Amino acid sequence: MRPDILDPIFAPLTALDGVGTKVAALIEKVVPADLGDRPARVGDLLFTLPHSIIDRRNRPGIALAPSGAIVTLEVRVDRHQPPPRGNRSVPYRVYAHDDTGEIALTFFHAHAAWLEKTLPEGEHVVVSGRMEWFNGRPSMVHPDHIARQGDVDALPLVEPVYPMTAGLSAKVLRRAIAQARSRLPALPEWLEGDTLRRRSFPPFAAALARLHDPADPQDVAPEGAAWRRLAYDELLAGQISLALVRARTRRLAGRPIAGDGRIVEKLLAALPYSLTRSQEKAVAEITADLADPERMLRLLQGDVGSGKTVVALLAMARAVEAGAQAALMAPTEILARQHLATIGPLAARAGMHVAILTGREKGRERSETLQGLADGSIDILVGTHALFQEGVEYKDLALAVIDEQHRFGVHQRLAMTAKGQAPDMLVMTATPIPRTLVLTAFGDMDVSRLTEKPAGRQPIRTVTLPMERMTELIGRIRDAVADGQKVYWICPLVEESEEVELTAAEDRFAALEPAFGSAVGLVHGRMSGKDKDAAMAAFKDGTTRILVATTVVEVGVDVPDATIMVIEHAENFGLAQLHQLRGRVGRGSKPSSCVLLYKSDAGETAKKRLSVMRDTEDGFLIAEEDLKLRGEGELLGTRQSGTPGFWVARMEFHADLLEAAREDARAMLADDPELRSERGEALRLLLYLFGRDQAIRLLRAG
Ligand code: ADP
Ligand code: MG
Repeated sequence: MRPDILDPIFAPLTALDGVGTKVAALIEKVVPADLGDRPARVGDLLFTLPHSIIDRRNRPGIALAPSGAIVTLEVRVDRHQPPPRGNRSVPYRVYAHDDTGEIALTFFHAHAAWLEKTLPEGEHVVVSGRMEWFNGRPSMVHPDHIARQGDVDALPLVEPVYPMTAGLSAKVLRRAIAQARSRLPALPEWLEGDTLRRRSFPPFAAALARLHDPADPQDVAPEGAAWRRLAYDELLAGQISLALVRARTRRLAGRPIAGDGRIVEKLLAALPYSLTRSQEKAVAEITADLADPERMLRLLQGDVGSGKTVVALLAMARAVEAGAQAALMAPTEILARQHLATIGPLAARAGMHVAILTGREKGRERSETLQGLADGSIDILVGTHALFQEGVEYKDLALAVIDEQHRFGVHQRLAMTAKGQAPDMLVMTATPIPRTLVLTAFGDMDVSRLTEKPAGRQPIRTVTLPMERMTELIGRIRDAVADGQKVYWICPLVEESEEVELTAAEDRFAALEPAFGSAVGLVHGRMSGKDKDAAMAAFKDGTTRILVATTVVEVGVDVPDATIMVIEHAENFGLAQLHQLRGRVGRGSKPSSCVLLYKSDAGETAKKRLSVMRDTEDGFLIAEEDLKLRGEGELLGTRQSGTPGFWVARMEFHADLLEAAREDARAMLADDPELRSERGEALRLLLYLFGRDQAIRLLRAG
């Protein structure tokens, strides 16, 4: 169990003075930890880091202090001017001066007694706050700090500024953080002395002290040594826990899956195309992994349209050849059905039996599928996360393929393993995740990459267009539709509200209908599964020519003869997401185009993002840009799926630490796989500190 030494910082927030349930609820909003359903704890405050500082070191003298600036002034108090009796709207003014001029210290609704005590006439005091100049006269309204000349040291010249939320005062939060720090026990060092020296890392407690009690703006910079130390700790904790999960999943399985090639041969013969070189290479890598007695944990990464599905199918065929079963899990029902539609006919020609299982299959249909799974008559099961739910028993599941894994997260992987099934695992992702992020999210999985697109693909022409030119666009679309083309029309992404998103799609549908009549279709997340299928099918077979959609089409939909992608309010989307969406066209041999509609008052960054889309189709470049412009959470889709992100580490600043943390984690676990040594015990503390203690349970479960 958790070492006692951590108890003080694992206490609930309400253990702190001045923090009741109301304040605690507010603090929960600002702590960076991904709380899930646990309440925040004292320790979470340690990692609530300032985003900037207030610098009070500027002491220009009254006359030279610019309006709006935060300054510290040494002044002599001259006289008090209370408001006229009964008129509370006039402030209480205290006049003071220094060598350069006079200033009015201004207080509204002041307590005269308190002011007389704090600012006695004739005294020398130091005040710090924001300067205001009005009609050529300087004043400071409610100085943040007032100190007697002798107590100047007590005045914080550099003050951390923390994230805020309505209702939570900075003072209350600061006090709570100070208490959290004082409760932090002395912890043994978990990093090697060598690492500390080489990277000039301060000790853990010193890093926290520097960040919460900064002496210089540099102290709270993410690039600064203190922040980097904590980021490293967090990355290390993440890498250790991933390594433990991996070691455990590996240990559980381990059987060679080798087929005789007869089904794979048939499939290859049935394909209307030949594999690209990188598809061939990926298939070879996967085949070797399957044949190996170690458990496979492989990521198949390939840009949109690079042809991952057929690679997965060939891998699954291997498992079936070996007499076992395979499962393919997709993040959405549409995608699951589409996989079934692509894979089903090919598989049938190769003599394999494919079935589907999603939340929609009920009653008789469902029980027949479950029966077929249990008796082994179903070779491949395609579906959503329903594939691994309670009551779904495979006769012999040898390979699980997970499509678009970044939406499932590591949790799912743990859940699957916890079920006692330990199939080889192939994770497919269309998000071209940079290597650094593969490491953070997946640990050291092996990676196969599809680096080329199938032959004959045409580049996609991308244009950006202000919303005002909608009419013109509709004219062009009319021509294109008359010419037999197919158009996706993606409606704005509204993060706060699915409701609004829905309305937008329905409005657009209604607006296009007069011009296009029954050629317009609509698909959105709130439709029933059957209606969604029908809408997709109508678009696929050409009954409809324009498909108005919310982002549900984002993942994986394949309509090869669609050639135009219109995205409304493109400035609201992440680059990776735009890239995914754009990848829905350009799949056939006809030239395609993508129109990014934006609000003309969109910000500079937004416009820059759109220009990246215009300039390149290279998913890796786009992902790198996205990382720079938006931060890693969105790229991985962690917001949507609730995968625990990072509290302190930020990829745009700390990516360079990741590789080192991974190597460290490996070396440490090689020396001490059970974390039993003195240093191992210290590392366990680290895992608790950063909420990675789930992995410790794996150690014990052995
Ligand atoms: P993604 O990697 O985005 O999942 P898909 O597997 O959906 O891509 O493949 C996209 C399209 O490319 C499909 O229509 C598929 O049939 C086709 N395809 C896959 N591999 C090849 C290939 N080697 N040559 C030609 N077309 C291919
Ligand atoms: Mg796909």
